[in-house]
Amino acid sequence: FGAGEAILRRQSQRESAARAYARSLPVVPVRARGMTVEGADGRRYLDCLSGAGTLALGHNHPVVLEAVRQVLDSGAPLHVLDMATPLKDAFTTALFETLPRELAEHGRIQFCGPAGTDAVEAAIKLARTATGRGGLLAFSGAYHGMTSAALAATGDTAVRASVDADARITRLPYPYDYRCPFGTGGERGAELSARWTAHLLDDPKGGVQPPAAMLLEPVQGEGGVIPPPDSWMRRMREITAARDIPLIADEVQTGVGRTGTFWAVERSGIVPDVMVLSKAIGGSLPLAVIVYREELDVWRPGAHAGTFRGNQLAMAAGTATLRYVRENALHVRAETVGTRMLCRLRGLAAHHACVGDVRGRGLMIGVELVDAEAEPDEFGALPAAPHLAARVQQEALRRGLIIELGGRHGSVVRLLPPLTITDEQAQAVLDRLAEAIEAAAV
Ligand code: PMP
Repeated sequence: FGAGEAILRRQSQRESAARAYARSLPVVPVRARGMTVEGADGRRYLDCLSGAGTLALGHNHPVVLEAVRQVLDSGAPLHVLDMATPLKDAFTTALFETLPRELAEHGRIQFCGPAGTDAVEAAIKLARTATGRGGLLAFSGAYHGMTSAALAATGDTAVRASVDADARITRLPYPYDYRCPFGTGGERGAELSARWTAHLLDDPKGGVQPPAAMLLEPVQGEGGVIPPPDSWMRRMREITAARDIPLIADEVQTGVGRTGTFWAVERSGIVPDVMVLSKAIGGSLPLAVIVYREELDVWRPGAHAGTFRGNQLAMAAGTATLRYVRENALHVRAETVGTRMLCRLRGLAAHHACVGDVRGRGLMIGVELVDAEAEPDEFGALPAAPHLAARVQQEALRRGLIIELGGRHGSVVRLLPPLTITDEQAQAVLDRLAEAIEAAAV
């Protein structure tokens, strides 16, 4: 126990202010298996953060450990930059088997990495190179990563040209039904959003640069777990296709079964031009790639590089994870368990005025906490309650539940359990969360 406290104290002092887990989630994990994390203090926690959705199979799943062990025992090189290897071949094959048919049959893969943000950079660069345009369409509440300055500081002007750092981002409202930018949610709100987007793009005096791409999350994660209507996804696909604008789907958080289909875009039936993949594809080790239509593959050799793109261990762990999720249809389980959890959480919302909204898809669930004492706005939404959410997080931790917050105001409790969560664990998560909300709300 003492060791854990000392570690937390030292890390709280030494870690940057931008990295606050030692303060906001004061747990010192020393062992973990599945959904359970054991702290240095001997306490056990249910982990509903799962590395922000990275751990599709939970911690230290036997198939992942075995895959990594085999590589370590085989004498395979651990680092080969981006050279072709049997492990890379196996990973690419396993990944392509999961992709929408058009991409599986004719797609290209670019290893990026090691983080999701690198793959987002690659996707934007690719679209800019392929279209010769600079602007980008992105959405309110979007989260795509943290990089910006490294390439701008790079001397190679030819590489930098694909970035056009001054290019404008046109930000469009994401269909967020609880705080709906169109005053109405659902299908009608989605249609208004689509019309607005089309109008903006076609208005010669609209002030919007012809964009290189539209970048969207099929379900917003960090923005507060916001699933858009399927019709909206289809309309975005139509609008971009009709104007030759590549559509980039950022599936960094939604991928590998989390939302109830293997890839979240499958639900609406659309096929994006580029998919950005990371987190769960590396089976808990760092890996990030983009897959895209071959017509876009026009960039010159060396246009996108990086030292840590060929992480052999991550490829092995990722191959094992992709196979396991597919063979055991864990995306279907995510849908079943997630729907049940959503249903129970909606019951909880009915008894707690401070729960303004419950939403999600599969095992990507958000509970938005609000100020129940305040006046609702004209559409019935109450103001966000970030302080209450922070209290719920601490109360949950005291009850052995690790949760993370998100959303525009930090007022959304996010549940991202592993897809292997058992019924008993799901029940325990909901019981502890309900108790935490009750304790925090008084
Ligand atoms: N895109 C999405 C949708 C994400 O959720 C995240 C991370 N939460 C990223 C990109 C960035 O990934 P990374 O933190 O690995 O750079």
